[in-house]
Amino acid sequence: MNFSLSDKTFVIMGVANKRSLAWGIAQALDKVGARLIFTYVSERFEKPVKQLAETLKGQSSLFYECDVSSDQSIKDAFAKIEAEVGTIHGVAHCIAFAERDDLKGEFVDTSRDGFLLAHNISAYSLVGVTRAAKPLMTEGGSILTLTYLGGERVVQNYNIMGVAKASLDASMKYLANDLGKDNIRVNAISAGPIRTLSAKGVGDFNSILNEIEKKAPLRRTVTQEEVGSSAYYLLSDLSQGVTGEIIHVDGGYSILGLA
Ligand code: NAD
Repeated sequence: MNFSLSDKTFVIMGVANKRSLAWGIAQALDKVGARLIFTYVSERFEKPVKQLAETLKGQSSLFYECDVSSDQSIKDAFAKIEAEVGTIHGVAHCIAFAERDDLKGEFVDTSRDGFLLAHNISAYSLVGVTRAAKPLMTEGGSILTLTYLGGERVVQNYNIMGVAKASLDASMKYLANDLGKDNIRVNAISAGPIRTLSAKGVGDFNSILNEIEKKAPLRRTVTQEEVGSSAYYLLSDLSQGVTGEIIHVDGGYSILGLA
């Protein structure tokens, strides 16, 4: 078994800052020598993402703008990647968005626009990105998305994002079934709560963290690095028989019944 990824290229989508789970994944892949391509939503993120990438030890990275709410933007980004590097071996899709007002109070109050926006950015984007990445994955490979327990169970305040994560989870499985014949695997990590820019938008996020510290089998929250190592497993040949799977990197919290 070869643990190095020095002959592999991965697209990392969704680094906003050093707390981003995508950054934890980038660091894990960099440690094993992978070549990385970063995409960011808008020009505003170009400089911070490039500055972060400069701190990596391995191969030099490439950078492209990609707003997943636009089919054209996805198409353009992957066309540029194809022109520049040709074959890629995987994609880490670490993208979600919902209006802050929809991440508190009762789910029943979700507006149609808020519902559609969350699904568009947080779930449909995996479908659009996978379709664009597939022609570049000529040697097979692995696509990874990030989900959360709120898509399987009701988590207070997570509301519309939980419903969008349920759609993301199902999309991941249908994509795994479609792409398996091309030797492309599609999986998800269900990460425990970690303080990031997106997580800040979820109402009373601190009480979710406290609950994990008290009740999760490991009695602590998980780290960006721990998500990164499981991502390395899922994006590499270490997991070559695994597809359509959700791996919970959550200190075991998801196995608990109600107290
Ligand atoms: P983050 O804010 O660092 O990352 C979210 C990213 O989504 C940002 O880089 C943002 O620019 C990007 N994004 C938003 N709209 C976009 C668009 N239209 N086009 C392209 N990119 C867009 O927060 P994070 O917590 O690292 O989130 C990454 C993923 O991890 C999300 O899917 C999130 O739901 C998931 N997740 C997070 C946690 C947590 O507790 N932090 C737990 C489980 C799952």
